[in-house]
Amino acid sequence: MSQEPLPAEIDVLIVGAGISGIAAAVHLQNDCPDIDYAIVDTEDHFGGTWWTHKFPGIRSDSDLHTFGYQFKPWTGTPIATAEAILEYMGEVIDEHDLDRRIRYRSKVVAADWSERDQRWQVSIERLDTGETAQVSTRFLYMCQGYYRHRQGFLPEWPGMDDFAGELVHCEEWTDDIDYADKRVIVIGSGATAATVVPAMAGTAAHVTMLQRSPTYFRTGRNEIELAEELRTLGVDEATVHDITRRKMTYESSQFTARCFEEPAEVKQELIGIIRELVGDQVDVDTHFTPSYDPWTQRIAFVPDADLFNAIKAGDVSVVTGHIERFEANGIRLTDGRLIEADLIAAATGFNMSVMGDVDFAIDGEPLDWHDTVTYRGTMFTGVPNLAWVFGYFRSSWTLRSELVANFVCRLLNHMDQHGYGRVEAELRPHQRDLEPMDWIDERDFNPAYLKRAAHLLPQRLDDLEWQHSQDYWREKDEFPKIALDDGVFAYRAAVQEAASPA
Ligand SMILES: Cc1cc2nc3c(=O)[nH]c(=O)nc-3n(C[C@H](O)[C@H](O)[C@H](O)COP(=O)(O)OP(=O)(O)OC[C@H]3O[C@@H](n4cnc5c(N)ncnc54)[C@H](O)[C@@H]3O)c2cc1C
Repeated sequence: MSQEPLPAEIDVLIVGAGISGIAAAVHLQNDCPDIDYAIVDTEDHFGGTWWTHKFPGIRSDSDLHTFGYQFKPWTGTPIATAEAILEYMGEVIDEHDLDRRIRYRSKVVAADWSERDQRWQVSIERLDTGETAQVSTRFLYMCQGYYRHRQGFLPEWPGMDDFAGELVHCEEWTDDIDYADKRVIVIGSGATAATVVPAMAGTAAHVTMLQRSPTYFRTGRNEIELAEELRTLGVDEATVHDITRRKMTYESSQFTARCFEEPAEVKQELIGIIRELVGDQVDVDTHFTPSYDPWTQRIAFVPDADLFNAIKAGDVSVVTGHIERFEANGIRLTDGRLIEADLIAAATGFNMSVMGDVDFAIDGEPLDWHDTVTYRGTMFTGVPNLAWVFGYFRSSWTLRSELVANFVCRLLNHMDQHGYGRVEAELRPHQRDLEPMDWIDERDFNPAYLKRAAHLLPQRLDDLEWQHSQDYWREKDEFPKIALDDGVFAYRAAVQEAASPA
């Protein structure tokens, strides 16, 4: 691991060494071999999400053939543990000799675009030494994810200080938290709860999944039959990976289309599967029948039905109700019920981090991201030489990281070929009168953390080109065809380097 200071000037600075930052680095290295780049990350290890989350059972909820990279076959089980994902990323870092490019414990705190120099002046705080370094870069490649690591969203409830047991947010979980033989309440029923609840079941005395309202789940074996069949036939892993990726992305696009075309049917199918699994033990109408349409919020995948098996075994119960207050020995609901607990684990979601909580400015003027409009969820009006990776929620996040990486490489090569030093996404004349709207259409996708941060996020237009899409199936064809000279991208010639004094 290199902690050499970064050079004072670098062509591209990648912020974040998570799955997106490492994708960005590999693509830059392969497609833009003459471009010098570095990666910085606040943490002391690569992996992002998969490094910072330590809660029991931490695993993906989408398959690794699509969450993994297109360029590196995934050979393990489709739903993978954080440990397996970190191992895979570690191999990618070794295979591409990326370690020397990464600076850990290095937090970008400010970035100021200089119009005169056509460069970002970036302030990077070294968390190990306390020093702040200044680095100037031509292009900022923001791969910093979308939420604050190590600080979850915890609503305020009356009496929280009265609780005599331990209260922890899953995002802040540490290895020393002991749940053996304890009565545990997990607040929430999203992907995190669906992971942590079965992981604690059997070891804890009992786990109660306490939800305000029901969530959709999908379940199935943690195996993809086609991949196994291809392996049995002796097909090489690269081909197995490629074919399985195609299958998974195709099926995902079909499922998403059905969710919007026939939501009532899909709803009944999803609930029907849960009914078959636990209908004789649990009131499925109360606990597993959401009021919203499928896919307007993320649907957690439950591998091998482990959550439902734990319910069947009597190790887990589900309670749907509203919290009135915390008491010394548990949580009192508004209907009067008391759920007793020794440990309460909050799986209550994230706080969004808009652009890594970096103080951005353009020529010294603070930048309010809400004043900008996003070009395909990747570039922003009024913000030159910067791209952001905001992945997919309905498909694997990484599919978008790689589409964006290919696009950024094309853009940088195009700029170099034409001697451009500055690029900005600009609205076309007919788009300038369109009314900007919040980042995401609530009717399409509406998790609470996005709604809470809508006033901070860039805006979108009622035009597919100017919004963050969830549609990989469309974007996989559109992104490679983005014309770099058709008017959306406004370029300026590179400023001449000042001649150095003789
Ligand atoms: C528990 C959990 C499970 C998930 N499972 C899935 C899944 O199965 N499938 C899926 O598609 N998505 C999943 N997601 C969403 C997930 O976050 C993304 O898929 C993906 O891991 C994000 O990768 P990333 O590299 O873009 O960002 P992150 O993983 O968030 O990494 C960003 C990195 O940037 C660093 N950083 C941030 N700000 C700064 C700064 N100012 N200066 C320096 N460094 C900075 C952070 O330290 C971090 O290491 C999951 C999320 C969580 C929390």
